[in-house]
Formats: sequence, C-alpha cells, structure tokens
Amino acid sequence: LERYHQEAPNDGASISFEYFVPKTSQGISNLYDRMDRMYKLDPLFVDVTWNAGGSQSNFTTEMIHTAQNVIGVDTCMHLTCTGMPVEVVDQALEEAHKANCHNILALRGDPPRVVPGEEKPITHFRYAKDLIKHIRDKYGDYFDIGVAGYPEGHPEEPDADVLIEYLKEKVDAGASFVITQMFYDVDLFLNWVDRCRAAGIYVPIIPGIMPISGWASFNRRAKWCQVNVPPQFLAELEPISNDDAAVREKGSQLVANMCAKMIAHGISHLHFYTMNLERATIMVLEQLHMLDKNNEKRPSPLPWRQSLGKG
Ligand code: FAD
Repeated sequence: LERYHQEAPNDGASISFEYFVPKTSQGISNLYDRMDRMYKLDPLFVDVTWNAGGSQSNFTTEMIHTAQNVIGVDTCMHLTCTGMPVEVVDQALEEAHKANCHNILALRGDPPRVVPGEEKPITHFRYAKDLIKHIRDKYGDYFDIGVAGYPEGHPEEPDADVLIEYLKEKVDAGASFVITQMFYDVDLFLNWVDRCRAAGIYVPIIPGIMPISGWASFNRRAKWCQVNVPPQFLAELEPISNDDAAVREKGSQLVANMCAKMIAHGISHLHFYTMNLERATIMVLEQLHMLDKNNEKRPSPLPWRQSLGKG
C-alpha cells in the first residue's frame, strides 16, 4: 500500500473527461465542438457512456470513432451487458476495435424491468465480470478493461466491503483499472482505497469527480447516487442555494480542495464527469492551477499503463 502511494507522481495529476450520449444527432454534433475545445485542456483520455440495453449504441460507437480518429484523443468506450444479446456486445467490441479504441469500461448496467407476461429478459451476462471474461476470451490483451467501483455502496448492495469482494472478482477476471462512482467525502474515499489495497486490488483506482454546477443538480445527484455530503459542503452552499453562479463558484472551490487533498495523498489521475458541460470542470481545474501550463501537450501514458506499484 505504501509503495503504491509513494510511486504515484506528486507533481499534480493527469485528467480525463466522461461524456454521455446525447439523444439526437444534432446534440452529438454540438458536443463534438465542446469535446474539441476541451481537448485543449489536455485529457489523457475521454470516455463515452453506453445506454443500458444498447439503445443508441450506434451513437456511442460513432462518438468513440470521432473522438479517437478526428479529435485525436485516446478513448474508453463504456459497454453494459445486462439484457444485451451477445451479438450486440460483439458488434460494439468490433466497432471499438475498428475505431482503434483500446479501452473498454465493462459494466453490468441496470437490469431491465421484468414485466409480467412479457418475454423474459436476456440473461447471457449476469454481472460485469461475465463481460470482462467474454472480452478477454475474444480479444486477449487487445483491450484494457476498466470497471466501476463504489466507495459508498450500490443500491443493490449497501455494504461497501461486500462490494470490494465483487470488485476483486472483476479484477481477477481481467480488469486493469477501476473508476469510482462520484463522491464528495475524500476521507471516506481514501479509506476505501486502503481497504481495496488490503483486499489485494492493486490496479489503478481512478476517482470519479462530479463538479458542482448548481444547487438543484448537486442535491439531486448526491441523493441519486446515495453519497455522503460533508457538513462543510452544506454549510457553504445552502445559504447561497438560490444563486447558481455563486454555488458554481463556491462548489468549484470545494471540489478543487477535494482534488488537492487526493493529489497530496498520491492520487495521480482525476476523472471528471463533465455532464457534457465545460464551465464547471474548467473552474475546478483553474482553482487547481492545472491550466497554467502554456498549452503544452504532455506525452503521458494512460493511467493504467503507468507503473503505479502494483503491490
Ligand atoms: P457489477 O459489478 O456486476 O455489480 C452489480 C451488482 O451485482 C452489485 O451491486 C452486487 O449487488 C451484485 N453482484 C456483483 N457481483 C456479484 C457476485 N459475485 N455475487 C452476488 N452479487 C454480485 N450505467 C450505464 O447504463 N451506462 C454507463 O455508461 C455507465 N457508466 C458508469 C460508469 C461508472 C464509473 C460507474 C461507477 C457506473 C456506471 N454505470 C453506467 C452504472 C452501472 O451500470 C450500475 O451501477 C449497475 O447497476 C452496476 O454495474 P456494475 O458494472 O458495477 O455491476
């Protein structure tokens, strides 16, 4: 554990951005402009979500192709497996392969609702680990595979320690990195990383950072993801809750402080849930003085290709 922390570079952190799939082609083309602008912020990679069940999967693969080959940034394609026929999964992997995307975030996705009297959902894949095994069987080491981690539990399993056992199974099945659910309590996250290491999970663990862009969305997402909001966040944000610009300003300071604390503890990569917006993420990076470098591109390997002391 000590070795892992010591080997992480302490001169700031690299970054990456998640985008979700817009509902329309027009939405996608607007997003490309934004992705292009945000490329100048020097992300090591960008990832694109997958709609569970595979609806609009062509949008995900198209965005991956454009980001990788037109914008020119490394990509990571999300892929869920529950309720998905194996042919759809294989088609998606083939598209990623053709696009020269080498990274898949392998997810189970939220199971489709079972409607009495209707056909039973397809159950080829039960858990994310089944998808990981499938990818490894078909593609060997071509893809680096990431998985989701939940420092504060999951709606189906509130016990974070039980989830660490399942996370270990995903790593043992072939995952090379973990990206976490959003959180606002850094101490809780760092303690969870320690527990993952103690459980034998030595792959890079990348914190998922959700910038604060307004009071309503901040509250909604924290409740939706069932994450602990430290009292300081509420004390600072609640009095200004009717002024979104002020919430964004104060929120970016709070999130930047979180990031600075993680960097000080040896976390070397920060993954931003952009929600397809740029301002809130940029404000956090400004607070961290991470945009002060004179636009120089850093030729860094992807976080899971760096030697982060695998224990
Ligand atoms: P799994 O790791 O398979 O776990 C799911 C649940 O199954 C666990 O909570 C546990 O209760 C149970 N379980 C797992 N293993 C076992 C076992 N061995 N025995 C018994 N029970 C077990 N969703 C999307 O639809 N599209 C996306 O693009 C997307 N991106 C995401 C990105 C990140 C970083 C994160 C954190 C989540 C993302 N999600 C996405 C949400 C995710 O699909 C849901 O949280 C889903 O419910 C769980 O997926 P998983 O891959 O974590 O599943």
